[in-house]
Amino acid sequence: MDSITKIGIQKIENDNVKAAVFSTLKLIDAQQLMRKENMVVVLKPNLLMGKPAERGVNTHPEVVRAVIQWVKQFNPSKIYVSDSAGGQKPGITELAMKESGIQEICDQEGAICVPFEKTEREIYEVKDALELKEISSSRLLKEADLIINIPKIKTHWQCTLTCCIKNMFGTMLLANKAKTHAQTAVLERFCSALADIYSVSKPQLTVIDGYYCMEGQGPSSGDVVKLDIIMAGYDGVALDTAVCKIIGFDPSEILYLGKAVEKNLGTTNLEEVEILGETIESVYRKFKRPKLKPISMPLPKWFADYIGKTIFRAKVKFDKKKCKLCATCWTNCPVSAITPPDELKKGNVPNWDSKKCITCFCCVELCPHEAVKFKINYIKNVLASWLGLGCIIVLGLITILILWLTL
Ligand code: SF4
Ligand code: SF4
Repeated sequence: MDSITKIGIQKIENDNVKAAVFSTLKLIDAQQLMRKENMVVVLKPNLLMGKPAERGVNTHPEVVRAVIQWVKQFNPSKIYVSDSAGGQKPGITELAMKESGIQEICDQEGAICVPFEKTEREIYEVKDALELKEISSSRLLKEADLIINIPKIKTHWQCTLTCCIKNMFGTMLLANKAKTHAQTAVLERFCSALADIYSVSKPQLTVIDGYYCMEGQGPSSGDVVKLDIIMAGYDGVALDTAVCKIIGFDPSEILYLGKAVEKNLGTTNLEEVEILGETIESVYRKFKRPKLKPISMPLPKWFADYIGKTIFRAKVKFDKKKCKLCATCWTNCPVSAITPPDELKKGNVPNWDSKKCITCFCCVELCPHEAVKFKINYIKNVLASWLGLGCIIVLGLITILILWLTL
């Protein structure tokens, strides 16, 4: 069996993250990627926002440290640790790097911790584009001899799971992420965009942080699960599929995996994969699902857009007690559906415009105080839509016809 199909899984014993990372990479013969000295290596962790390591939001700094130490054995010329955090505000990624502890470990290990948005830009053309014809990102992706993806295992309000494929969305730069959300409001289209982005930034190696994970209302306000595993491999699609099996999710419900397979970016068939070390069963731990279900609609685009904007329209609610009026939500909403209250005083919450909202979940993801909640009232949405009205008229006509025929 070709090494491209190998997945390694190891347990983290007694919090010894380094031992688990090194032995997992050995299992899959990852050293064969370090072909020469003086390589430029880019590590891409999940750096959503400035939260402490044990909250399970960002890739754990000790996992990043262990990967840096592993790379350092092969005398690279430079190791970059880069991401573009959630949000559009300048300086937001630096803040996330600092508060997550990643900046500190980079300083200690001699790696260059730099936000993608602070590097030179490059426009990448997307081959066989499903949604995005070109992507504006960092030149580092092109200059790197090796890209190592270091995602973590988290549930996700919108996509159900965020791990390998979804993590590379962070190679898009701040406002471009918001723009992509605005352009691809329906999940089906957003997942196509994720596959396009992954095809441009495709890492040669992935090391999954399964140390402190998140279940339920991920990716930022769920519950922490200390799963204590490290996974590694070359095929992000196969790795995401294996993660689904480990946390008790059905891979076929993760829409971006189907899109990635359509673009020939990997396999969801674990029969084609050699799993080394632990088995899926030996590390199985069922995760609580996010409350909202993803919007999956293999329908014509115009109809899917209509359904997404009406039936799946969510109602945003702000928690008065938790909201600190920090401005994160209204400065990052891609369609300006949130505005500050008239007076910035305790007890007031932001205003939300349901007509503008595209249900992208950015405000939920990015609120640093977990003060934004979503609710979808399907019955009300159906009844309030033209589709619902049409259904009511048709049902009414059928009832009248039946009554007329039976009387
Ligand atoms: S809801 Fe959250 S992000 Fe918005 S202002 Fe309040 S605390 Fe800040
Ligand atoms: S209000 Fe929230 S969910 Fe709606 S578009 Fe703005 S950021 Fe997205």
